[in-house]
Formats: sequence, structure tokens, C-alpha cells
Amino acid sequence: MQRLIPRRLAFLAVMPALLLLWSCQQDVPTAGDAGFDSGRAAVDALDRDTADARKARVSNLDYEVLIDLVSSEEEFSGDVTLRFNLADASTDLTIDFTGGSVIEMLVNDAQVVANYNGYFITIPADQLQSGPNSVRITYSHPYTGDGTGLHRFVDPEDGQTYLYTYLWPYYANRLLPSFDQPNLKAMFAMKVLAPEDWTVVSMSPGSSEPANNGSNLWTFGTTPKISTYAFSLHAGPYAVWEDNSSDIPLRLFARQSLAEYVAVDEWFELTQGGMQFYGRYFDIPYPFEKYDQLIVPEFNIGGMENAAAVTYTEGYVQRQESDRAQRESRAGTILHELAHMWFGDLVTHEWWNGMWLNESFATQMAALAKIEATEFDDTWHGFFTEGKKRAFQRDSRVTTHPIEQVVGATDEFYMLFDGITYQKGASALKQLQHLVGAENYRLGVSAYLKENSFGTTELADFIGHQEKSANLYLGDWSDEWLLKPGFNTLTVEMACENESLQSLAIIQSAPEDHPYLRMHRVDVALYDIDNDGALVAGDIVPVQIEGARTEIAVSAGRACPVLVNPNHNDWTFAKIALRDEDAVVLREQLGDIEDPMSRSIFLAALLDKAMSGDMPIADYVRQALKLADTETNMRVLEQITSSLAEAVDMMKRLRPETDRALPQLLDDIEALGLRRSHFAQTQDLKHMWLNMFLNVVSSNAGVGTARAILDGRAEIDGIEVSPEIRWRLLTILSRHGASDIAELLEMELSRDSSDFGVRSALSVRAAVPDAAVKERWVRELQDPQSAIGLARQRAIMYELFPANQTNLQLKTLPIILGALPRMSAHADPYFMRSYTESLLTPMCRPESNAQLKSAVNDYAGQLNPTALRFLREAHQADVECLSIRAAQPSVVLTGEPTALQQIMQDLSDNLIEISDGLLNHDLELTAKGAMAIAEHPQIPPEQVQMVAKELGPEMPVFKQFDVRVHNLAVEINAAATAGDREAAVAGFHRLVDGCLACHDAYKDRVAAVLRND
Ligand SMILES: [Zn+2]
Repeated sequence: MQRLIPRRLAFLAVMPALLLLWSCQQDVPTAGDAGFDSGRAAVDALDRDTADARKARVSNLDYEVLIDLVSSEEEFSGDVTLRFNLADASTDLTIDFTGGSVIEMLVNDAQVVANYNGYFITIPADQLQSGPNSVRITYSHPYTGDGTGLHRFVDPEDGQTYLYTYLWPYYANRLLPSFDQPNLKAMFAMKVLAPEDWTVVSMSPGSSEPANNGSNLWTFGTTPKISTYAFSLHAGPYAVWEDNSSDIPLRLFARQSLAEYVAVDEWFELTQGGMQFYGRYFDIPYPFEKYDQLIVPEFNIGGMENAAAVTYTEGYVQRQESDRAQRESRAGTILHELAHMWFGDLVTHEWWNGMWLNESFATQMAALAKIEATEFDDTWHGFFTEGKKRAFQRDSRVTTHPIEQVVGATDEFYMLFDGITYQKGASALKQLQHLVGAENYRLGVSAYLKENSFGTTELADFIGHQEKSANLYLGDWSDEWLLKPGFNTLTVEMACENESLQSLAIIQSAPEDHPYLRMHRVDVALYDIDNDGALVAGDIVPVQIEGARTEIAVSAGRACPVLVNPNHNDWTFAKIALRDEDAVVLREQLGDIEDPMSRSIFLAALLDKAMSGDMPIADYVRQALKLADTETNMRVLEQITSSLAEAVDMMKRLRPETDRALPQLLDDIEALGLRRSHFAQTQDLKHMWLNMFLNVVSSNAGVGTARAILDGRAEIDGIEVSPEIRWRLLTILSRHGASDIAELLEMELSRDSSDFGVRSALSVRAAVPDAAVKERWVRELQDPQSAIGLARQRAIMYELFPANQTNLQLKTLPIILGALPRMSAHADPYFMRSYTESLLTPMCRPESNAQLKSAVNDYAGQLNPTALRFLREAHQADVECLSIRAAQPSVVLTGEPTALQQIMQDLSDNLIEISDGLLNHDLELTAKGAMAIAEHPQIPPEQVQMVAKELGPEMPVFKQFDVRVHNLAVEINAAATAGDREAAVAGFHRLVDGCLACHDAYKDRVAAVLRND
């Protein structure tokens, strides 16, 4: 991030009553000579040792704070008094305060010179006393632009200013000097001076009275004991809605220019439903006085559980009707944050090693609440297809970690903010709930929360309550599941004789680096073919998997199953390795499996097979397309559409090996997306298919269609082309080099000047396929003085290198990597994460592998933990991607495309033009495509000679095909030009059926010759 330089400010003139009157600084006692160095490193982080030592000495803590939001647009000012009991005054004490300025300071009513290093203030022991102490600090701090601390945003649409805090995990000390650690819970009493047309929100209810110069002074009631990170201060001319229909008053806030699009009723309904569910489940009523939710601009993450004043990203507001995926993700976050009011805010982890339990638990509870209180009652199915996918992905990285792990300092937090802490942990809790039983689990949770209300806990507290309610020893479970990294893979081993099952076992394995086996409580399903030829689960057997091999008792004479699912219902967190014979069965019969979740489990296993190089990605795509023909379940359809986009993305990165398969498949997928979005029965389906089209589109014809939709020349039945869709279309055109992109962009910005529009325009500019453009943006991102702000930097980063631009990415790679050490020293972890994740996506080449490897080796000692983590992961992903090139069944040609390859690519593009023209009754387009084929350039003579040598006597046949293709193209062109569509269609069929297949067959052999050259 761009760290703003603190500037001093003489504020407080508007609050004379609070002015601290000083004599002169020279008279103030100074630091003294002895014992002043606290031994704490001057960095923007809090280490656990310091935190533990403070916790051991400090108790009965409260904060009284006054904050001025009126005096400056650059920075805010504050006056805080910390009152606490100190167990011993024998050593110095530090107070966290990053990036601000201390104006004046009193320790136990004596004026002192603050010893402040930009990260924390040190109070020497001789100024402290055993027993009660008070420290009063007058300070200022810049507003931030990166979404941390107190973030300030000016709406480009109407010029209004909005503020909000984001204090997790260690940003509360950017709002006020504090002991910024979760286990020093405190009571906060706050006053805020704000412009009179603003609403100010914090944890407690507040009221305002007029103060000087058009400002209001807000006073908030003293909070119960909470952690610093859960405190908050939000302010601005927010639009506000209220719902007082239950005991707890609810409010919802959003920017004025966004207000008309907020799904207010849905938001309140979900919140009410969630509150009732949690109140019953925990057997504890909602623990605070009121519940405010604010939708805020430029928010870094989905939602933040500030106690009774939750914040959300504006990504949950759409300017068209939200589709199902958007509604579900919004509901999930609303219910997740609400669960934190009990689990997280009321009861809080001692330190950040416990963050996973907080997050995983809220994720699990949100799923249960969704089943109870929303339309998404098959939410565990969605958790499998999306949540677990993320968890496995993260757990397979070289940087993986145990679910619960040691956290030495707060800057390691970003190593944990991931799919293990959220989704893998939630998977483990789901397995635990299955193991101890749902009601025992609930009772254990409830007792744990009741015992520790307003306090802090360790893992043992949670496990202890589960053991007690289930009367079960969980020490080994906890050790295997929570303290060991990596995941297990389950394989089926089965022996049959004369079609009857002799033996059945589940083989459990673990990766070499993390060779830990676990106990898994699962259901194993045995599939048979019924009389109608359908695949049905004939037996579902509960099994406790332990060790490397678990034998399953089979009844004598049972028919040999055609397929076995070792994790039916997805109770455990383990991958399934399909045997080759399973893949054969699934190729024909995946769609015949009755249970939708099981179809998903097998489809995911097939994708794993393809992405690990065990089968061509094109085969997966064909399988998914086949399933799409018959699939009706929404979850499976979502999985199909998102996995097709993922597969196409990877195939683009794997060119030229995928050049043979990609054009045809892309054409099929694009056509499917358009057709289905046009004809689907519901808006949810329409948007899902349109999304898939927009995610994959990259053929000439597809990009042409995107252009036509943007221009209004083409329509999709029932789809309103919202500003969001328009911006996506524009980005697609930019990515593919539209020559008039600058004018289109100008026009679009005049239609949509919102914050969303401004960010999208940056994406469009970043997507332009030009090396100079890429370099310019990368250098801008690297500039520590850049004032763009993280939200806009992200809009650039996400679109800088789409999958079809890996050549440009490779060219820019030295610049991207070269600045890492320098950036790592000053940039915020959130920025470093986006930078390394977005700019180092796989290029899958030996050159990219080599450069990433050197960077890992050379820079390791110079990078902060976040930058190093994502660099190592980028290297691993690039190596894996390169390794699956060989698995793509096509000719391997390196370097520039040969003339022949180019001709084949053109041929494929031209064919699409012909067929598109015929389908859309655009005979001009058909004529154009046919003409291009008829006129296609010849293979250079030296290549013809090599080909002739290889083909020998078959060479004349090959040439003959070439001639036939030419003749038919001339024929189609003539028919289309004459307006005779029927004749053109007939010609097209003859071209495709009669010639191209043969042409293709020769192409492989010809290309092989050229490769060996
Ligand atoms: Zn959370």
C-alpha cells in the first residue's frame, strides 16, 4: 500500500473542554537513561511474546476516546485515555500506534515526552506504578486509502465523503493508541466530532448534539468488554434503513448513490432469520444492544464482524436483479458475520492461532443457518463444489500449514487468511459434528459459549466441551486433524470373481511431505446398474477409516459394484482418486447417477484427474459438456459452468499443445452459453450461462458476439444488459485488442461515472494487449507514492494478464519480480497478496519456471512473509502447469507458430465465421469466411518438401484434400454471395463432413515432421 506520511495537526480548538493545557515541553520529564529500550522490534506488527508479557501485567482495561473527523481531510485527531491495572511496574510498557503522530502525552497525570518510533510508544518503568495507571495521549493519524484503519472514500459520483474502520487483525492501533491484542478485552467510551449531516456508528448506540461550526458531537455508551479488533467507528452521510420488528433494533447503511440498488428487505429478512436460528442453536440471545450493518466502499474483504456494527463489501450490491450465485454469497456472508457476534466477539480467541476456529465455526454455522433460514437448503452441496475446492487447492501448496498453528506475530496473519483457516477448518468441524453427533455438538458449543462469554479461549476449551457433551476422548482426533498439515486421498481396492464381490477395501494415502493418516467417519456407496441401465447406489455402508487400509465387510454373493464412492455425502475432507476403469464407467454414465451430490463428487474427481495431467483437459471438457446436456440440478450446473471456465483458462495457458482441441471446444462452450442463456426458463439459469459465456469468450466469433451485445445489435432474451455486464463486455473487447477501445471507454464512462465505473475503466485499460501498456501499469503499481488506492490497484491487477496474454506476462516478468524486495519493505500485506497472486498467474513455460525459481532463491531473505508465501506458490503452480503440457494430446511445437499451424488456426476461425453467418442469416459473414479459406496462403515450399518426404506416396492425396477444401470454399462463397443460403449450408456440410477430418488427420503427421526439424 501507499503509506501516507503523517502530518501534524493542531486540532482540538473546537473542543476546548478537552484541550490539554501544557506548559512547555522542556519542563517535561524525558525518557531517562536506564531501562528505556523495551526490546521490541520497531516493525508494523505485534509479536506474541510482547502480547503475552503485556497480558500478564495489564488488567481492568478501559479506553476513553474522543475523535475529531471535522478539522482535516487528510488526517483525523484524537485524544485517548487508557486506564488499567498494572501487576508490576518493574519494566517498560509499550502501547501500539502505527503510522500516526503523538502531540501530547500524560502518564499518571504527569506530562511526559512520548518515546514514539512510528510503531509503538514506550513508557519507561519509572513513569509507571503498580496498581491503577492512566495514560492520556493526544494524537493525529492520516486517513488511509487501502481499506485498513480508518479508511476515507470520496464518491466520484456525488462528491460525498464516507469513512469506516477495518481493524482486524492489527489495525485498531491505526485508529487509537492501544494494547492491540485480542486477549486484552476492554470497555470503550467514545465521543466523535463529525459534520452535522453525517451519521456516526460504533458498537454501542450513540446520540448527537450540535457542536461548533456546523458539526455534531456524538456520544456512545460504554461498551461491554471486547477485543480491539472488534471495535469500530464508521461515519458519513450514509443512507439508512431501520427494522424494529423484533427486540433487537436493526439498521442497514449504504452510500447514497448506491442506496436504490440495496436489497433491503432481503437483508433484514436474512438477519432476522439468522438471529432467531442462532439464538436457539446457542441457547443464548443476541448479546448486544443493537445490530447495525454497513455496506461500505473499497472494502478489502467480504465482511467484517465489528461487534454490533458489521461492515460488508459493496460487491454484495448489484445494479441489476441479483442472480442466485450473488444472492447466495451475500446470504452466506450476512449469516457468517452474524454468527461471529457470539463466536468471535462474545467469546474470542486468546491469540491469532485461534483465528481458524473463529472463522471455520462461523462458516459452518452460516451453512446450518442457510439450510434453516434461506432458499439454499442444499448448501453443503455448494460447500463441496466451492468451499472444499478452495481448501484442497490451498492445502496442496508448498506453503500449507496445520489448521491450528503457531503464530509468532501479527504479520503472519496473512499466511492464515486462506482456504485452510476458513474451509478446511469448517470441513474438519463438519467431520467432528458427524463423529460426535449433531445434538452433542450443539450442546458442546452452547456450553462453551456460556462459560466464556466476554472472555477469551484456547482450542482446549472448545475441544474439552465437545468431549464432555459427547463423552468421547478427542485428543487423537484433534491432533490428527488440527495440528497436522495436508490431506488424505482415498482409493477403492476391490476384487471380483465371476461378477461377485470378493473383497472391498479403502486405501488411505497422504502426500510425501505430510505423511499423516487420519481417522475418517464416512459412508461408502456401492453402485450397481439397475434394470433400466441407470447407476444406483445399491448399498451405503457407514465405515470408520483408520490407517492405510480399511477392509469393508461384504455380504457373500453380493454382485460386483460397477463404481464405489468412498466419501458418499461428503462427510470427510479427503480426495478421491479415480481408477481408470472408474473414468470409463463415468464417461458413459455420470449423468445416470441419481444423487446430484454424488454426480458432483465424481465430476470433481474427473477435473482433478485432468488438472493433474492424468488425462487431457479436453477430455474433461467433453465430459462436462456431455453432462450439461442432461443436467438439471442447479449446483451441478454451477459446477459445470465454473469448471468449464477453469478448464478453458488452463487450456489457453497451455497453448500451443491445446491448439488442436481448443478452438472447437471453445466454439462449443461459447455457443452453449449463449444458447442456454437465451432459452433458459429462469433468470438464475440465464445469468449462470451468460456468466460462463463471458468467462470463456475468446474466439473471433464469440468476441464479435460480445461486441454485438454491447452495441445493441444482438440481444439475449430476458437479459437486461446492466452496467456491470456492459463493463465486462468492454473488458473482453479490450483483452482481445479492439482497435476503438479508447472511444468505447470514453462513451461508457459518460454513461457510468460511479465508483464501479471508475474501477472498471481501469480494468479495461489494463487489459489492452500491448507490452508497453503492461509495463507502464506494473511500474505504476510499484510506485510507493502512487495515490490510486488499493481498491483501484486491484481493479488493474486482476485484469492485467488474462489467460490469453501469457506471452506479454512473460515479457514483463523480470519487471514484476525485480521490484519484489523493495515493495515488500513498504507495501501492506493486502497489496502484496493481490500483486503476487494476480501478476504471477501460471505461464507454464521453462523460462517462467526458471525466473520464478531464481526469485524464490534470491529474494527469500528479503521478502515479508506474505510476499514470500505467494511467490513460492506462484512458482509451484507454474511448475505444475508446465508439467501437464505433455498430457495434452496434440502436436508439441515450440517457438513461433509455423506457417502450417497458422493456416490451421485461420481455417478454424474462418469455419466459425461461415457457420455463424449461416446460423444468424448473415450471408455476408459466411461469404467472408469462405473467401478467406479459398484464398488461404500456401505452405512455404521448403516445408512442402519435408512433408512430401514423410507422406511419400500419400502426398498427392493430401494435396487433393487441400484442393477440395479450396473448391468447396469457393462454392460456399458463391452461394452466399448470391444469397442462396440453402446451397451455402449444403456446401458447408460437405466441407465439414467430407474434407476436414482427413485434413486434420494429416495435420498431425505433418506437424510432427515439422517439430522434428
Ligand atoms: Zn469471519
